[in-house]
Amino acid sequence: MSRPELRISSQRLSWNIAAVRDRVAPSELMMVLKDDAYGHGLRWAVETAVAAGVGWFGSYDVRSGVETRRILGAHGRVFAWVTSTHDEIDDALRAGVDLGVGSIEYLARIIARARELGAPARIHLKIDTGLHRNGLRPEEWTGAVATVRAAEAEGVLDLVGIWSHLAEASDAEDDDAHRAFLDAVRLAAETGPTPEALHLTASAASWWRPELRGSVSRIGAFCYGIRSADGPELEGVAPVASLVASVTAVRDDEAVIALGSFDGIPSTLAGATVGTPGGARALLRIDETTSVVAAWPGAAEGDEVWIFGGGEHGESSATTLAERIDTVGEEILTRLTGRVRRVVVD
Ligand SMILES: *Cc1c(COP(=O)(O)O)cnc(C)c1O
Repeated sequence: MSRPELRISSQRLSWNIAAVRDRVAPSELMMVLKDDAYGHGLRWAVETAVAAGVGWFGSYDVRSGVETRRILGAHGRVFAWVTSTHDEIDDALRAGVDLGVGSIEYLARIIARARELGAPARIHLKIDTGLHRNGLRPEEWTGAVATVRAAEAEGVLDLVGIWSHLAEASDAEDDDAHRAFLDAVRLAAETGPTPEALHLTASAASWWRPELRGSVSRIGAFCYGIRSADGPELEGVAPVASLVASVTAVRDDEAVIALGSFDGIPSTLAGATVGTPGGARALLRIDETTSVVAAWPGAAEGDEVWIFGGGEHGESSATTLAERIDTVGEEILTRLTGRVRRVVVD
């Protein structure tokens, strides 16, 4: 094994999904797939999740939404929320991918494309509840809903969801956002049927703040076993992926492994603890294509070193590594380059 491997466990993903679904029920899990399923591989993630009973998928962009639809066939719902080009809208309408809509301009473009193609668009309207990233402002909401209802009457649109995103900076702010969200739902319900998919919370709030959950919960990190930075461990959830590299040389009390910053591991992680056949050891230095680990008794060429994973060999989780450099576990995973081979182990 000359290239590092990201070893991925289907069993672990299924168990995490089961734990998350139990925790958030009766809210339905929408599994988030952005960034190639948080670096784990989109196709594998979708196939494993379908087998585990997941029916909603959140894909961020239309391109991966259409790919998800291809893997799913007619099964399930796919939600793509980034504002997209005309061509992407057309692709989404043809593939039956739901679109997240956070501006009047985008809403008008979707209606125009749906009319042109004769394919009704399924949309989830986004209310800005304070994050100010994307989303209809409260003063735009009533007008947008009126436009949506008129397009529904014309047969070119179907309002299937209302959603927003939380800052998760403080409980009080999230409570305010929740109130703004419920106001928007109420106003929409005064003009027609309440959409089936009401979704506000991602991993942390879905897990810890049951009172904020809607009928659907958009969850990425926790499905993959990535806990929140500075957050507690989660019952029934553990890392799905382990990063493993081989020893290429041993000299004195140091083992050289075939993994470096060119593989996407930040060199600032030097000093972290990794797993070895002899248990936890210090990762002493990270160079471009190799790194140096404090050796263990009997260390030999070909031995395996776990950079992160579930802890069986003394390694930390991706989130514990991330905390050392003030980032989140997702970033450790999604930065890994194409040199790292993804291998499904069970
Ligand atoms: C990334 C993302 C999520 C999932 O967040 P996690 O914390 O990984 O669960 C949910 N909703 C939106 C809009 C996102 O961008």
